Amino acid sequence: MKTAIAGAGIGGLAAACLLAQGGRDVVLFDQFDVPRPVGSGLMIQPLGLAVLDLCGAGDAARAAGQRIARMYGVEVTRGRRVLDVSYDPKGRPEAQGLAIHRAALHGALMQAVAAVGVRVIPSSMVQSAPLLDQQRGLVMQDGREHGPFDLVIDATGSGSALSPLKGRALPYGAIWGTVPWLAQTQLPTDQLSQRYAGAHRMAGVLPLGQVPGRNGAHAAIFWSMPRRDLAHWPSRDLTEWKAEATAHWPDFAPFLQTLTNTAQMTAATYSHGTLRRPFAQALAFIGDAAHRASPQLGQGANMALFDALALSRALQANSIEDALPRYAQMRRWHVRTYQAMSAAFTPQYQSDSRILPALRDWVLAPLSLTWPLPRILSKLVAGELIPPLAGEVFTASQFHLGPNT
Ligand SMILES: Cc1cc2nc3c(=O)[nH]c(=O)nc-3n(C[C@H](O)[C@H](O)[C@H](O)COP(=O)(O)OP(=O)(O)OC[C@H]3O[C@@H](n4cnc5c(N)ncnc54)[C@H](O)[C@@H]3O)c2cc1C
Repeated sequence: MKTAIAGAGIGGLAAACLLAQGGRDVVLFDQFDVPRPVGSGLMIQPLGLAVLDLCGAGDAARAAGQRIARMYGVEVTRGRRVLDVSYDPKGRPEAQGLAIHRAALHGALMQAVAAVGVRVIPSSMVQSAPLLDQQRGLVMQDGREHGPFDLVIDATGSGSALSPLKGRALPYGAIWGTVPWLAQTQLPTDQLSQRYAGAHRMAGVLPLGQVPGRNGAHAAIFWSMPRRDLAHWPSRDLTEWKAEATAHWPDFAPFLQTLTNTAQMTAATYSHGTLRRPFAQALAFIGDAAHRASPQLGQGANMALFDALALSRALQANSIEDALPRYAQMRRWHVRTYQAMSAAFTPQYQSDSRILPALRDWVLAPLSLTWPLPRILSKLVAGELIPPLAGEVFTASQFHLGPNT
């Protein structure tokens, strides 16, 4: 069974590992000359880590990344604690999240892909996947054609040329950078820290662990901005922005020291949308090609990993024709629940609204600290509010957890 995967990102690489382990002949195409990730750091939730374990990438990811026990956010004007979620009241390491630089995660997954003998074909910008009888071909932007394949998996992310999904542009994005973790900071190394002013301003520091090719521990820093301002970021006066950011959150200042150029912070825009049917004949959509959201809940990578696992499990037990609807069914309610949660939470933290952050600070935040909500919020951020694979048993404790747990 020949399977082509378009996109060697998080979902594509995980799907390649899992399908090749199941005996499929898999070939991966990516646009990059040397497959490489773009961007700073992200959070992998505990069950996402379990999928990485299944791929054979879990130990390398843990070795590079940083365990995160708690997410903590304060509204700066009144000093109110408005976000305080711990993964696990007992502090069990296997129940915590992992913050990791994209390049480190990519490296771990690329090693796992190489170990199962998947061919990666770089410099391949996929343009279309025409139906050829019951199969699919792949046509590249430069006119090259590949195939036919029994199945094409679209894992090309939010800019997919194959997916019919057109996301709704969100009004806020952010600038992101990767900087050294400095000894003089007071911030804990196992905590995502954020500071908000209403919903129009948010600064954050995510400890990341190691960045390939650099020495020492690092952090991802981010600063929320209206979409309309992001285009002007490259020409912004850096000194003026540093002063503004430091006035907003004095503890942010040490992390800005190494920034000498606006190009060290990358602008990211976000969109929101979900495919009703994440498949077509001999074609499956996974990850951001199937559903997109802001990173507020930190679920995008997790969701791509769950999609890869669900698709590989559906294909193990069924013909391609039956496996694709089964894949969609396995993921439907988890995807819908998290997309709805993301749509509800994001404007409380990133919007021009005055009412939503007031509601967040005066009603939702106090409620969130009252039993049983802390436990429910822990499950929400861990991606486990409902089972990620309907009808399948899948818990982190089922899996080997590596030496760094
Ligand atoms: C700033 C930011 C912060 C985020 N933070 C988090 C977080 O903390 N936690 C979290 O879980 N998620 C986070 N996300 C979301 C997460 O990054 C995505 O949901 C996740 O990467 C989706 O994985 P994917 O495999 O679908 O796509 P990607 O990882 O984007 O991979 C897509 C791959 O396809 C390739 N590609 C694209 N187009 C083509 C083409 N035409 N032909 C060939 N190859 C192509 C790309 O080169 C890339 O390798 C964040 C996103 C952003 C933008």
